[in-house]
Amino acid sequence: MDAPTSPTLSPSQLATLAALGEERAARVGDVLYRVGDTSYPFVAILEGEVAILDDAGNEIVRHGASGFLGELNLLSGQTVFVTAVVTKPLRYIAVERDALRSLLFEDGPLSDLLLSNFIARREALQTVRGIGLEIVGPRSSEATMRMLEFARGNRLPFSWREAQLPGDGPLPLVRLPGGVELSGPTTGQVSRALGIGRELGRREEVDLLVVGAGPAGLGAAVYGASEGLTTLVVESTALGGQAGSSRRIENYLGFPAGISGSELTSRAVTQARKFGAQLASPYRAVSLEPGNSRHLVRLEEDHEIAARTVLLATGAQYRRLPVDGLSEYEGVTVFYAAGPPEAQLCGASRVAVVGGGNSAGQAAVWLARGGSLVTLLHRRGDLRETMSDYLIHELDRYGVAVRDRSEIAALYGKDGQLEAVTLRDGERLPFAFLFLFLGAQPCTDWLDGAVARAGDGFVLTGAAACVDDLLGTSVPGIFAAGDVRSGSTKRCATAVGEGAMAVQFVHAHLATQELTASPR
Ligand SMILES: Cc1cc2nc3c(=O)[nH]c(=O)nc-3n(C[C@H](O)[C@H](O)[C@H](O)COP(=O)(O)OP(=O)(O)OC[C@H]3O[C@@H](n4cnc5c(N)ncnc54)[C@H](O)[C@@H]3O)c2cc1C
Repeated sequence: MDAPTSPTLSPSQLATLAALGEERAARVGDVLYRVGDTSYPFVAILEGEVAILDDAGNEIVRHGASGFLGELNLLSGQTVFVTAVVTKPLRYIAVERDALRSLLFEDGPLSDLLLSNFIARREALQTVRGIGLEIVGPRSSEATMRMLEFARGNRLPFSWREAQLPGDGPLPLVRLPGGVELSGPTTGQVSRALGIGRELGRREEVDLLVVGAGPAGLGAAVYGASEGLTTLVVESTALGGQAGSSRRIENYLGFPAGISGSELTSRAVTQARKFGAQLASPYRAVSLEPGNSRHLVRLEEDHEIAARTVLLATGAQYRRLPVDGLSEYEGVTVFYAAGPPEAQLCGASRVAVVGGGNSAGQAAVWLARGGSLVTLLHRRGDLRETMSDYLIHELDRYGVAVRDRSEIAALYGKDGQLEAVTLRDGERLPFAFLFLFLGAQPCTDWLDGAVARAGDGFVLTGAAACVDDLLGTSVPGIFAAGDVRSGSTKRCATAVGEGAMAVQFVHAHLATQELTASPR
């Protein structure tokens, strides 16, 4: 579960942590924390050694002097996924989670070191069998597949046992680290049982409600909260949005070596929380009722938010392949993102990545580097029409076969295990896995007719919605930013920029409202 070289803290970082935490000692065999615990402190090792074990007692890694324990759940507050046992007499500094979080807001270099290693450790944990959640249910159960998507989206370590449950009980069965079982839970219940996320009241009132926590929503959260607005962000699936699933974002300003989507968005989430934005997930917005002084957004599970302003930042979702029987394979051998669990699953197999955009290119390179035999299928005559040059070079470098003018017409296999596809011209190609990157459609169905939308469902803003504000929708006080906006540039940096810019329009709208409301 460690980064490739075991990271260490400098003497001055150890001194900073010592000033904030408590020095403790432990003997060989002592358990510092175990699977299923609700929390644990950050541990910086002064002397000695600690082994990290999975639930069955298998050793994953050891940490020694100047090393540190912990992974992403130290920041998110999730249940503990591993056990830490002392293997050499230990002297260490324990820093409680809240104190660590405040320190990370202030100490840039320490924050960089811990955050990047926590993320690397989480990625490594996702590839270790038997860690985290166990989800039990058949592929035919929609609730089971939704739970798998939730676990993947939130980068939770999990395993799936594809099985029917005895009787007619609700699906799926979810076994939490530590053994607690939930029968047919909602994703919200699992999330709360794992200790993630903020519990919303039945009704909340805020200055700014941001719907969707991708780059646009997180950009707005940082600027809204830092500029004094009570800002609530509701997210239906996983904080980070599409960007969070990107293996590597190479073109985001300020990161010349590129940055993984999960690192970029984890940093953004930490930053938004630092400024006091409230992030609530998973909560899906299901309707929007525009009002005069407040707009009402209803969420699943009977919550409502009365907001003086609303930012729609719900982005877009991947298109599906128009072939029969696709759902039988989805989540088993057909995926919409390529993360560490999928890369591990399909190493040394024949894999097709479908799509001609940069996201397809990135996934193809990532999978090829992980040892898969990758073919990229796209429907145009020349990949250069749709993919950046640097990625086309990378495809070549990592031996990805590229097939132009290739569209899949049918899938063949059994019990969700893909065996082959045929193309429109009838050619049959053996593939064990498919990764689909076919562009996206906007997540706007829930809006119904509340704001004006283009024919393709994207939200109209500015001149297209007959309003002056660039990001204003057809309803005063409701704005849209990022991929959900008709005509937007579908990029991380533009989404962040629009989220930040939307806050200026929010201030202007609130100022007008206050002027109108104040007595003359
Ligand atoms: C694999 C991949 C690689 C990419 N690589 C790059 C790259 O290298 N460079 C680059 O610039 N761009 C890249 N992109 C594009 C970039 O990620 C998007 O442009 C960006 O994420 C858009 O941000 P957004 O906030 O507008 O929307 P999204 O990121 O789509 O976020 C929207 C969020 O809203 C949530 N949501 C939807 N409906 C609801 C609802 N009803 N209630 C509550 N929440 C809801 C969604 O779950 C989601 O989390 C990539 C995209 C993908 C998929």
